[in-house]
Amino acid sequence: MTSHILGNKTITDRILCSWIRCKRKAWLDHNENNHKKVWSAHRALQLDHQHKSLERFFNNSPQKGIEGLIIGAREVVGVRLKGVTSLGLNIEGHPLLLQKINGKSFLGEFSYIPITVRQGHRVTRENRLSLAFWGYLLEQFQKIEVKYGLAISKVNNDLEVEKVIFSKKIKAELLDSLERINKDICKEDLPALTSDRKKCTLCSWKQLCDEKASQEGDLSEVNGIGAKRKSILQEIGISNLNELASTSPINLSKKLSKYGEAHEKIASQLINQARVQINLIPQQLRENIILPELKFAKGVLIYDIESDPDAKHDFLHGFVLIKRRDNGEWSLDDAKYEPILNIENNNEKAIWNKIKQRLKSFQDFPVLHYGETELLSLYKLARKQGENEKDIKMMTVNFIDIHSRLKGGWLLPISNYSLKNVAQWLDFRWTYKGSSGARALLCWRQWERSVEVRSQRKNKLDWILKYNQDDCIATWKIAEWLLNEE
Ligand code: SF4
Repeated sequence: MTSHILGNKTITDRILCSWIRCKRKAWLDHNENNHKKVWSAHRALQLDHQHKSLERFFNNSPQKGIEGLIIGAREVVGVRLKGVTSLGLNIEGHPLLLQKINGKSFLGEFSYIPITVRQGHRVTRENRLSLAFWGYLLEQFQKIEVKYGLAISKVNNDLEVEKVIFSKKIKAELLDSLERINKDICKEDLPALTSDRKKCTLCSWKQLCDEKASQEGDLSEVNGIGAKRKSILQEIGISNLNELASTSPINLSKKLSKYGEAHEKIASQLINQARVQINLIPQQLRENIILPELKFAKGVLIYDIESDPDAKHDFLHGFVLIKRRDNGEWSLDDAKYEPILNIENNNEKAIWNKIKQRLKSFQDFPVLHYGETELLSLYKLARKQGENEKDIKMMTVNFIDIHSRLKGGWLLPISNYSLKNVAQWLDFRWTYKGSSGARALLCWRQWERSVEVRSQRKNKLDWILKYNQDDCIATWKIAEWLLNEE
């Protein structure tokens, strides 16, 4: 890892946003080689949302650059602003969008305010501070105070617009943050990994940080340890995987008891998980058969849904059918993939009838799924179609959550029990490299609004179907492993 001190830094809006998410990210953005970054489907989804929200906001095509501001265009993109803070720090920003409002400025009888796009349901600190940052730069350019900015977001077919006032408090927070950023990115040593590793999913430095976490036996690598539990363990003197593995369960349980029953109860599970990860040998937790339903089953249905959570749209219900051979063997050569596509999201009745029909045709077959999403979504859909609770229960009585059975029966030498992680540990590989749910969603959104030629659209849909089929097969691979270990 390169480690050096640089002088005369210019703090950009990008560094500010990175720093708000993770101090290490800001340092890496500023000091590390960009080729170590990896493409993130989650980030691409954010950009897609940004693009759609802006498209919805624009009245006409926006003008570009400083020329756009000078002629007084209504909306302007592509402006680069430079400035200096009251404490002499160089700053530079590239506002997403500027909108003209009334009010005299250096430009004429008008001035501009900054606009950002909100991700999720609430305006975040990152949104507020980046707007304030652009406002601060605009003030220096327009020579007039910028009192507010706007955070916009496309939600279904509507556009939500929220005013963010640049209060004294926000401005003070911004200047204080810029000072701290300057100190942080000048430090010689790379800051520690963020305690909330969930944030890493969105980050382009994830691969680099995952390697570091694994090399150092970071506590976040142990399944069951999130940000809160990690800081508790550090507080009681356990700082890595090896230390956790060599702790006595009784001692740890005693020490954790003052942080609440949930932490106390999980002590020996955490230690066992850490030991399994060090020894690289899976550990069976109980003797009972984990999938008794499959003992005499004539076949199974494997079920996996692909969804667009923002649009509340389950766009694909994928089923793989495997009939058992007469000699009792299971073989993937007999697997048949039968997807039900819900393209328009306005004909749920027809989709529900197809799913109901599918389940009815194989009512004696266990239905395997990984995680609780499938069952929850199915319940929701059935209730919306007016099915009564008793009938829904009957229809789903054969559903088996493989994730929950696996976690109840085994400790595996892996850092998390997601479908991807477990199946990869079993040497299963998805057809397309870099497959993920986020990538499938991105593909779906691109397909939805794509104006490409028919064959390119078809490729995207084929990609999603193959990915969904692979998810079903991966679920089967895990079930098959459980069966073979019984
Ligand atoms: S991957 Fe995680 S720890 Fe690393 S820089 Fe990104 S957010 Fe921070």
